[in-house]
Amino acid sequence: LVEISGLRKAFGPLQVLRGIDLTVSRGEVVCVIGPSGSGKSTLLRCVNLLEEPTGGRVVVDGVELTDPDVDIDAARRRIGMVFQQFNLFSHLSVLDNLTIAQRKVLRRGRAEAERVARENLARVGLAEKIDAMPGQLSGGQQQRVAIARSLSMAPELMLFDEPTSALDPELVGDVLGVMRQLADEGMTMMVVTHEMQFAREVADRVLFMDGGVVVEEGPADEVIGEPRHERTRTFLSRVL
Ligand code: ATP
Ligand code: MG
Repeated sequence: LVEISGLRKAFGPLQVLRGIDLTVSRGEVVCVIGPSGSGKSTLLRCVNLLEEPTGGRVVVDGVELTDPDVDIDAARRRIGMVFQQFNLFSHLSVLDNLTIAQRKVLRRGRAEAERVARENLARVGLAEKIDAMPGQLSGGQQQRVAIARSLSMAPELMLFDEPTSALDPELVGDVLGVMRQLADEGMTMMVVTHEMQFAREVADRVLFMDGGVVVEEGPADEVIGEPRHERTRTFLSRVL
């Protein structure tokens, strides 16, 4: 579903991604780990073209996003992204947060958008919060609303950038539970996370990035359990 080859990104003189090759198959869950500044967020942001790559190719579902003639808005519609900060519209109710992009971007009618919103709120366990305002919800609930909002756009691919890092520890589990359920349902996911237990249990593959390259990748049990590279071992000894 995702094919990345020779992906490079520089900010001025700073080389942040130095040639990333990665394929993600449909239904696969890939977790990306690595130290701060290694380029994890930049990698995700290049996959939905929030950042424009300096070189290389990104193909999602057969559409080359790096083609200058691509319809970026159309391509992006198939990709959901959930950030560390939930980015809900604070002045809109949960329902309106879930329906606004469906109506404006997908041109769904009110009734259909509401039906899809209800369905996805139920999916994240928050059906009863449909009329709440974001400020009335806990951080974990807000993040689950953000996930439901993404799902309402029927994405082919979900990108998560440290979705639990801003949460109080007791709220992390609910969000990871929703992500685990999505993985079980067959959603294709790329997840930047510091939750090593989650990566071990849910990821089909783990990528360890450092200095803008993929240092090591493989099944979670190997990369986290028996890392081959010194840099991976050093990183894991700090976070585990
Ligand atoms: P963290 O774990 O702290 O989130 P990360 O692995 O996600 O780190 P990135 O956010 O991808 O790292 O950043 C990689 C490098 O690129 C950092 O040195 C960062 O300062 C730099 N960088 C990121 N975005 C920009 C930008 N818009 N302009 C300039 N430099 C940037
Ligand atoms: Mg980051």
